[in-house]
Amino acid sequence: MSSLPHHCSHCGADTRQDRAAGLTYCSVCGRDPRPEVPLAPLDADDRLDLRRWRLAFWGWFFVTPVAALLCVGLAPGFRSYQVVGISGMAIVALSALGILAVGMLGAGYCRVKLDPRPREWHETVTETLGRTAAIFVVYLFLTPFLAAVMYGLAGLVHALVKGTFAL
Ligand SMILES: [Zn+2]
Repeated sequence: MSSLPHHCSHCGADTRQDRAAGLTYCSVCGRDPRPEVPLAPLDADDRLDLRRWRLAFWGWFFVTPVAALLCVGLAPGFRSYQVVGISGMAIVALSALGILAVGMLGAGYCRVKLDPRPREWHETVTETLGRTAAIFVVYLFLTPFLAAVMYGLAGLVHALVKGTFAL
């Protein structure tokens, strides 16, 4: 940290005391006092990459809950099965959770790649876990809405099949 400026480039605070105290961040605003290095402008290849990561992100994001729901939909068919002492229902439930976990991690990783900047591998891991947690929260908020829509659709299909609209 030899190139620290005398003043924080973000808030303008005098950083000489911070430096003397061995701090590498500004004690006023908490940021790195050095000016941020502007990112190189994206070229066509980078933009194509970003489009692919964005597509992959939305793919993971939407396919994951659908795949998990389809898995749960299999549950009644597996009710009577038993594999090495584990009930078929438990296997289906674990599979659905596994699909959710893998899918959210996949979406989280794509989301990290959508923010193109150089990272150490451990930064990629922590950022992916952070994005994954955020996606989990989004799913939690979307679940009641999705459930209501699916419940409504199921009721509509049921009514159509019966030939009546029982409202
Ligand atoms: Zn500052």
